[in-house]
Amino acid sequence: MNGSKPERLVCVGAHAADMEFTAGAVVANYTRAGHHSTFLHLTLGERGHRSLPPADYAEQKKAEAARAAAILGAEARWFDIPDGELLADEPTKRRIAVALRELRPTILIAHWRGSIHKDHIAAHAMMDDARFYACLGAIPLPGDLPPAPYCRIYYADNWEDPYGFVPEVYVDTTDTHEQWVEACSAYEIFRPGGAGFRYQDYYRALSVCRGAVAGFPHAVAFMKPQALLQAKGDLLP
Ligand SMILES: [Zn+2]
Repeated sequence: MNGSKPERLVCVGAHAADMEFTAGAVVANYTRAGHHSTFLHLTLGERGHRSLPPADYAEQKKAEAARAAAILGAEARWFDIPDGELLADEPTKRRIAVALRELRPTILIAHWRGSIHKDHIAAHAMMDDARFYACLGAIPLPGDLPPAPYCRIYYADNWEDPYGFVPEVYVDTTDTHEQWVEACSAYEIFRPGGAGFRYQDYYRALSVCRGAVAGFPHAVAFMKPQALLQAKGDLLP
């Protein structure tokens, strides 16, 4: 870690696979450098299979999520909220907040709000409040854990969250690109023909497009919250 303090990345996705596909290569960058990372899937995305019943696909997704995280050097967690029924309600915000107090992220990766998917919109809508609850010790939460440290939020570059997404931060993922492909391939939907949407084609091509802009063979882009765009100093940045 070159003497720098250890970071703790927590990637909160609406469905298992969302965060591995979008941010997995960056997670691998961090875990390779000795930092800690966790994928928190709010639902498993178990209702999206073309033929498997949701209960069977849920078991498959759990195995896929665990394998993908292991390949990336990360941990995987998931809630038992049904796919398609994620609500931005108080109980779910507090449930995420408890997880944040347990995991104590220094960096949080979340969905951008401009999404075509209701679960993604709900996941985005909960993050600021969940972080607020996690960080404010005066908010009582189950477990009585100490408050989480304040953490930065970055929004992932997800094909289903395109409206208003502006790539603002580019991370060189060249060294972990193949590791990321292997991890994502743990998911059936990433493998060729595994889903109606061509996930692998899209995200591999996106890594080249973002890399072309940033001057790297492969890159992953993120958007920042408005507050992080503020620069402070006595001269122009
Ligand atoms: Zn999703």
